[in-house]
Amino acid sequence: MTVPLALIRNDDQDQHVSAGHPERPERVRAILDGIAADTMLATLPWLEAPAGKRDLPQLVHTEKEIRRVEGLAVKGGGWFDPDTYCTDASYVVALNAAACAARGAEALMEGEARSAFAVIRPPGHHATPTLPMGFCLFNNAAIAVRAAQGAGASRVAIIDIDVHHGNGSQDIFYGDASVLYTSLHQFPWYPGTGHASDRGDAGASGTTVNVPVAPGTDGVRWLELFDEILIPEVTAFAPELLVVSAGFDAHRDDPLAELRLEDETYAAVADRVRILADAHCEGRSLWLLEGGYDLRAIAASVAGCLHVLAA
Ligand SMILES: [Zn+2]
Repeated sequence: MTVPLALIRNDDQDQHVSAGHPERPERVRAILDGIAADTMLATLPWLEAPAGKRDLPQLVHTEKEIRRVEGLAVKGGGWFDPDTYCTDASYVVALNAAACAARGAEALMEGEARSAFAVIRPPGHHATPTLPMGFCLFNNAAIAVRAAQGAGASRVAIIDIDVHHGNGSQDIFYGDASVLYTSLHQFPWYPGTGHASDRGDAGASGTTVNVPVAPGTDGVRWLELFDEILIPEVTAFAPELLVVSAGFDAHRDDPLAELRLEDETYAAVADRVRILADAHCEGRSLWLLEGGYDLRAIAASVAGCLHVLAA
């Protein structure tokens, strides 16, 4: 039986922590508390993921990148760059987050669920083939895409709604015509990539779609851009699965960026994704937590999305 929405999480996420850092375990706890406190969301089924193994990051990262993460964890932890920390547990935690992403993708392709939301840390969309960066160790969205393709999806579209450009996801799929990467992101902003002129290796007919958004943009304008640019691109691509890089840091309350989306904007995005998935992908959409650093805003915004996806 296919359930409308299944959830998945990595319970060891609280071992990836650095005092005072905004990318912290409380983010996931706030979302989980919000789910538990909601009569309807509390009844949603949870998928079990197997322990993450090295073969998952190997789908999208070089051996050197994987050894860098593993090596710093084995040494007891440290920093890959001034933003991106690693604890002695982070390699295993990141493998398990990737395992949740892959399990979610496989569950959708095998018809266990129509949609799935992975409440996972650390996030992934900045991790490039060769580099952990921007709070990200392994690229969960890219790993989910490859897992879905291993389970039979030929074409997959990523919809990256995090306020930051997913430079890692763009890099991984820049020359891959089987994967459409789309992103709305504040520009200029970290990490500095995501120009509208970057369309993929095939140029204007490529499969990268960047929509840079000016600081101060509100949810109404953001949704207009989503409707005017992203929806036609995804529709034309005709994917078999949508993977949403679900960052909630474009929210007006977020401390790390300058857009002005509301809680309701995210429910409106979920509504649009659901309609797109119903039209092209037999309903399949996989949501993977990326950024979002205001605890109230992420808990409320995720809950809004889950209500739309579960209906
Ligand atoms: Zn972000």
